[in-house]
Amino acid sequence: MSNSTNDAKKQVEYFMQGLIRRNPGELEFHQAVEEVAETLMPFIMENDRYKNAQILERMTEPDRVIIFRVSWEDDNGNIRVNRAWRVQFNNSIGPYKGGLRFHPTVTLSVLKFLGFEQVFKNSLTGLPMGGAKGGANFNPKGKSDREVMRFCQSLMIELHRHIGEDTDVPAGDIGVGGREISYLFGQYKRLSNRFVGTLTGKGLAFGGSLIRTEATGYGAAYFMENMLNHSGSSINGKTVAVSGSGNVALYCIEKVTQLGGKVVTASDSSGFIHDPDGIDSEKLAWLRDLKEVRRGRIHEYTEKFESAEFHKDKRPWGVKVDLAFPCATQNELNGDEAKQLVDNGVTGVAEGANMPSTLEAIRIFLEAKVKFAPAKAANAGGVAVSGLEQSQNALRIAWSAEEVEGRLKNIMAEIHSQCLKYGDDGNGFVNYVKGANLAGFVKVADAMIAYGVV
Ligand code: NDP
Repeated sequence: MSNSTNDAKKQVEYFMQGLIRRNPGELEFHQAVEEVAETLMPFIMENDRYKNAQILERMTEPDRVIIFRVSWEDDNGNIRVNRAWRVQFNNSIGPYKGGLRFHPTVTLSVLKFLGFEQVFKNSLTGLPMGGAKGGANFNPKGKSDREVMRFCQSLMIELHRHIGEDTDVPAGDIGVGGREISYLFGQYKRLSNRFVGTLTGKGLAFGGSLIRTEATGYGAAYFMENMLNHSGSSINGKTVAVSGSGNVALYCIEKVTQLGGKVVTASDSSGFIHDPDGIDSEKLAWLRDLKEVRRGRIHEYTEKFESAEFHKDKRPWGVKVDLAFPCATQNELNGDEAKQLVDNGVTGVAEGANMPSTLEAIRIFLEAKVKFAPAKAANAGGVAVSGLEQSQNALRIAWSAEEVEGRLKNIMAEIHSQCLKYGDDGNGFVNYVKGANLAGFVKVADAMIAYGVV
């Protein structure tokens, strides 16, 4: 190991010790920062401009965190209490922007990791958006529409004071889809008495953008296609594993299939299905209805399609595939599973979910020279089209699906170019983790330095 690499490693250790001391017990946040610090530290140490500005210390401290109680009444008249947060991480290059997550596992640590990553991701899109994330430890599963509505309305009574079209623009994430955004936006509109684009992911009848629903999954597939095209290959003819069966997974399956790939897996928190014949467009339409309309479980797929098998409580990474798209949740792909994928000949991995791969899994992919697209780059399509929804709202116009998808495709190609600029080692291998972190960082850091000591 060279002296400078050694120095950078020591600096990362020292930096992480301080961060862990200041943020005890926030394991997901530590993990997200460590991944970024490892790739940024050598660059920062070589550039006095960033080093002297203590820029990493500043960028890992959120601008502010809002924590509040959400009380609501269930269908049986019982009073329920949840906790909600909004982490406004950094608005150096634009108003705060990032999703809301409703899931029982939501904690401050999870939202800080998501908010921190969002800062880099939004910067990568090239659009003027700062980073934020929010949500609640509320479980929408098994709740009636009316219960979800009452929860969303109660949450918005507090949240509306802190957001606005030029301040902070929330969107969906796990557990927050079209239904929830509609309840949230409806309540925001009542409280503020203004019809403005303060939330994205809205219905098409009230300011939503075409292709927003599809954008994250489509974008991940486009990013993979860009990576493969760069080395003279493509998705066409490849066998593909996808995890999840939510918003990101369903539209990732759709675009991969359109690009000629064969998707053989999908999952939810109860296990995964393996369909060696592939999830074609007809099966996908059925799966979408199961998940989006009937809110059913993934094993029902095998009752309908006999070619498939259900693997209870298992994840799909043991299936032999060329490409993998983890699209469910954080830390759903560990070191052993990464090794299994590599041993089975995987050549490309694109993260549709946020931080689905553990640090060990990422190291294994990079060592094996797998084309590995980190979430910041691979799933930036969702927030990019949210940004386009904001633009359409501000202009009071609506673009066609072709127009929006064309822009999405261009943005994903541009993110890929940015990753090449900073991540190409010159020997034929592109480290997309380094590329995405550096490209996202420079813009935000330069803005912060321009503002002085902020
Ligand atoms: P959805 O709620 O639509 O779907 C989530 C999927 O992941 C479901 O299949 C769910 O299964 C599964 N899942 C959730 N938690 C777990 C868990 N702990 N273990 C196993 N499976 C789990 O969410 P999205 O598709 O919107 O989001 C998926 C990922 O993509 C998240 O990491 C999110 O942050 C990220 N993302 C989403 C964007 C978007 O535009 N929606 C944008 C960028 C990133 P089950 O139904 O059983 O819970």
